[in-house]
This record gives sequence, C-alpha cells and structure tokens, in this order.
Amino acid sequence: MLNQRLTNQLAQIVGKDNILTSKISLASYAYDASPYQGRPGVVVFPISTEMVVEVVKFANKHNLPIMPRGAGSCLSGGAIAPEGSIVISFSRMNRIIDINPENRIAVVEPGITNKQVQLAAEPYGLMFAPDPASQNISTIGGNIAENAGGIRGVKYGSTKDHILGLEVVLPSGEIIVTGDINSPLEPEIDLTYFFCGSEGTLGIVTKAWLALTPINPKVKTMTAIFNSLENAGSCVAEIIAKGVVPTTMEIMDNTVIKAVEDYLKLGFPRDAAALLLIEVDGFPSDVETQVVSILNAFTNNKALSYKIAGNEKEREDLWKARRSVNGALGKLKPANIVHDIVVPRDRLAIMLEKVAQMAKKYGIIIGQVAHAGDGNLHPTLYYDHRIPEEVEKVEEACDEIIKETIVQGGTISGEHGIGIEKLKYMPLAFTKQSLEYMQKVKDAFDPENICNPGKLLPQIAED
Ligand SMILES: Cc1cc2nc3c(=O)[nH]c(=O)nc-3n(C[C@H](O)[C@H](O)[C@H](O)COP(=O)(O)OP(=O)(O)OC[C@H]3O[C@@H](n4cnc5c(N)ncnc54)[C@H](O)[C@@H]3O)c2cc1C
Repeated sequence: MLNQRLTNQLAQIVGKDNILTSKISLASYAYDASPYQGRPGVVVFPISTEMVVEVVKFANKHNLPIMPRGAGSCLSGGAIAPEGSIVISFSRMNRIIDINPENRIAVVEPGITNKQVQLAAEPYGLMFAPDPASQNISTIGGNIAENAGGIRGVKYGSTKDHILGLEVVLPSGEIIVTGDINSPLEPEIDLTYFFCGSEGTLGIVTKAWLALTPINPKVKTMTAIFNSLENAGSCVAEIIAKGVVPTTMEIMDNTVIKAVEDYLKLGFPRDAAALLLIEVDGFPSDVETQVVSILNAFTNNKALSYKIAGNEKEREDLWKARRSVNGALGKLKPANIVHDIVVPRDRLAIMLEKVAQMAKKYGIIIGQVAHAGDGNLHPTLYYDHRIPEEVEKVEEACDEIIKETIVQGGTISGEHGIGIEKLKYMPLAFTKQSLEYMQKVKDAFDPENICNPGKLLPQIAED
C-alpha cells in the first residue's frame, strides 16, 4: 500500500471518488485470469487523458511503477500489479466517442469492452473484426496491449490489423498520437505497431481509432468428425491450400469431444479423434463455392460424418460445442492452465498428437482446442492446485509443450501474450540479439522502467 501522504496527493489529482486504497479493495485488483498474484499500492480510475498524464507525472516524481488495467482477463499475468504500483484502471474511460459508418471508423476510449463496440457498430452493418472469446468483458485497451485474436482470426487477423491510430500517454507523461490519423498525407514510421502487443510496457493507450469491417450477408457453419488427428490436420491443410479462407476453423481433440458430449449430449461419437468446426462468410455465391470445396476436403480426408447448419438454431447448436469447452472440462478439476502456442499449419496434427502423448506420459488431463486455420493451439492442462505432485507434473508438461513447439518451428504465444508466465521461455523463442533490440525499444519509450515492469522482456544474461 502507498503511504498516507502519497495517497492524499494522488487523491487530489484524481478526486477522492476515483481512488481505492483499502487493503480489501486492493486485494481484488491483485489478480488477473492467470494463476499469479500481485501487490498493487493503489488503484486509480482516471476519467480523462489529462488525468492520466497527471498520474504518470506523479509516478515519475516519486519513482513509482504504473500498470494500465482493463478488465483483468489476461491469461499470461500481464495485468498482475507490480509491487507497490499505481494501477490505472480504465473502467471509467469507456465511451464511444464517435462512429463514422462512411469511413468505417470508431473512435473509442480504452475501457470500452470489445462487445460494446460490436453492438454499437452492428446497426450500421459493421463489426470490429477481432473477437476474443472474452469479448463480453475484455476491453479495447487490453485487446490492443495483448494484440488479441479470436475465432475470426484466420480470415480477419488480430487486433493490430484493425487499429488505425492511437493516443498514448508515454511513461514520461507526454502525449503522442500515432498512425494514419496523425498525418494522413505524410509518410512516417507508424508507431501504432509498437504499442499493439506491447503488454502495457511502453505507454498507456487513452484513445483508439478502430477500423470497422462490413458484416458479410451470408454465413454457413459446419462440423466434421474424424477418426484421427492426422486426417483432421490434413483436411485443414487442404482447405487452406485450395484458397478457401474460412472465418473460423476450430479443431477439438478426443478429450474435449468426450467432455462436451458428456456435458451437452449433442450426439458426437465419444470415440471420435477430432472434430472440426468451420464457418465461412461472404456473398451467397461465394459462400456456396467455399462450402463445395470444404465438403470435398472432408471426403478426401476420410471424415466419418459431417453436419451443415440449415438455419440459425442449428448453427447455434454447432457453436454450443465450442463455447462449452471450458465449462465441460472445468468440471473435471478445480484449476487449469490455458496454453497458447503456434505452429506452422502443416505441423498442427503432429503437435496435437505430441501433446496428447504428453498427457499420457504425465498422467494428467490435457484438453486440446485449436484455432486450426492459423496453427494456434490452446492445450489446457487441468489439475488440482492443492496437490503438489499434480502441480509439479503440470509444470513439467508446460515446459515440454513449449520446447516441442520450438522444435516444430513454432512460437510461444499466439494471442494471450508473454506476461509473467512465458518470460522464462523468451530466450528459447528469440535470439539474444532480438531480445536486446526489444529492450532498446523499451528503453527508448520507458528509460526509467516504470511502465508495467517485469512483464514481457526477460533479464538478458551476460555472456
Ligand atoms: C475466458 C477467457 C477467454 C479468452 N479468450 C481470448 C481469445 O479468444 N483471444 C485472445 O486473444 N485472448 C483471450 N483471452 C485473454 C484476454 O481476454 C485478452 O488478452 C484481452 O485482450 C485482455 O483484455 P483486458 O481488458 O482484460 O486487459 P487486462 O487483462 O486488464 O490487461 C492486459 C494487458 O493489457 C495492458 N493494458 C490494459 N489496458 C491498457 C491500456 N489502456 N493501455 C496500455 N496497456 C493496457 C495491461 O497492462 C496488461 O499488460 C481470454 C481470457 C479469458 C479469461
């Protein structure tokens, strides 16, 4: 906790209704959705960019760490408050400032949720393409800082692909505006991309210009069942190789299929090795052409059966399986770790198989769901955190999953970030030279290391 004198000064800056200092209130800001715990010194709720500037200047003056916070849904520990830090919560900077349907731009404050942006854009036939599964709670500031992906990522990319510009309060307290918004007619180094995925370590986003995308008029959703991960994996590869770009292409392994079937009784065979959920969107004739190619790929890769949703109710039923994965598997054990790795698409089936073998080797439950279309796997390890042997096995399996990912030519995070969780794996994924250049970028923006310290960038060992 911050001492009384500093707390009083900070309260004068933000107003006494925009600050939390009691032990019990701070406890609820000590966590995000990862298994870690932080120790915030104070939580403030700015209501304007100017207020953020004053808080940052105060932090500089007193050499206090700061951490921007959205909804705290980060899975890698990025929103775990550094010891004694000022947590800057954006829950009161959550307005849509403007929606311009002609230019397809939304201007928003960082604390607005992804879902609220979708709801505001929908009446204009538009959407914000990034759609993390956490969209009901996660904020645009958090989505930008984590470069969040989502179910539509295979076709539409991740958050960074839909940000036109940002207003950022730098760790010095200066305000900059990045991107096309700043100087549409002049060439420049677009600084926007430094902030997308920088996990709150370079500066604080206080306003964002979002590119909106037209909602396509037709959607088709289908599932197929396979008797091997290999066949499902080669089906994914064939669909992509044919030039079809589904909006969604999700794969689930046998552990997940069994759990979901036991939970929902949707009629999936409990012994199926893999299930693919695919959705395509576009103009009607385009969608029909894509569906024909996909059905051919099902046949060529020995799908045991498939279903195509004939109406919205049937589409919802197919989606139910995917949406219920966490609930279905969460019943089995009290704790879990959601991994987030990426491998080249042609390594997807091999990686799924390797992880299934690890589950057997360590005697633990690992449910596997993957955004198959972009090789992004989420092996989820279920365990009882009160049993030390289970914790130990899960930690060993996590290390082995990461090492195998690197062997397969992949990388250690697709969309959930590095945070605290994956710091120790950074030297496995990046060369010393790359890490040194990342550190130089950090030093350029945050020479005093006050902005979310201890995240993303590991200490680089001396030679
Ligand atoms: C059930 C569940 C499902 C999920 N599904 C997905 C998914 O499909 N795809 C996906 O990518 N992620 C997913 N996530 C992870 C998480 O929701 C995302 O990382 C999300 O972008 C975090 O947003 P947040 O508002 O909760 O940010 P927080 O967790 O509060 O913060 C995350 C990081 O962003 C920084 N930050 C927050 N606001 C700002 C700001 N204004 N300026 C600068 N930095 C800031 C923080 O300092 C921190 O480092 C899921 C999480 C859960 C719990």
